[in-house]
Amino acid sequence: MVKESGISIEMSREANKEREKMTLLHVCCGPCASACVPRLKDEGRRVTMLFANSNIDTAEEFEHRRAEAERLAAHDGVAFASLPCDHADWLEKVARVYEDAPEKGARCERCFRYNLGKAAEWAAAHGFDSFTTSLTVSPHKPSAMVFAAGREAAAGGPSFLECDFKKREGFKLSVSRAKELGLYRQPYCGCEFSRR
Ligand code: SF4
Repeated sequence: MVKESGISIEMSREANKEREKMTLLHVCCGPCASACVPRLKDEGRRVTMLFANSNIDTAEEFEHRRAEAERLAAHDGVAFASLPCDHADWLEKVARVYEDAPEKGARCERCFRYNLGKAAEWAAAHGFDSFTTSLTVSPHKPSAMVFAAGREAAAGGPSFLECDFKKREGFKLSVSRAKELGLYRQPYCGCEFSRR
């Protein structure tokens, strides 16, 4: 009996270790994700990419970026999931009255909170203990602002891993991997207000 309970404790420790290795990576696009996946895998993590980007302004652009992210996942041998684009909801909850805010300003901060909130919900619903994001690859996205949004999104759920992917030349890595894999590199951030 004691032995059986010892086995079950050991099995549950193993199951916990496996769960700890599972990491959800919120991805903004294929090129940025291409710098994150190898680094997370090098740490022994089992990565699932989640494309959750209702900030993207048109259905065509959303599908193009989503398909490229999925192609990267297949190439790098990791799982992939995506959430439908609800740009009307994003406009209402994020951008309304912040349309003229500059990039790296209040609208972007709200945008990070929105997308990372969706990622945190998905992570919790699918049994992940932790999540992170490719948003920190871009030099246009202040890592401290992304981390604050991630911590807020994580409140009471899976923990947010503060991975600063722009460190150790992460952006340069994203450019070179995107070129090598022929990934589409979009000419604007995502929302209509970043096109100007
Ligand atoms: S510029 Fe980019 S980060 Fe800022 S609100 Fe638009 S899509 Fe979001």
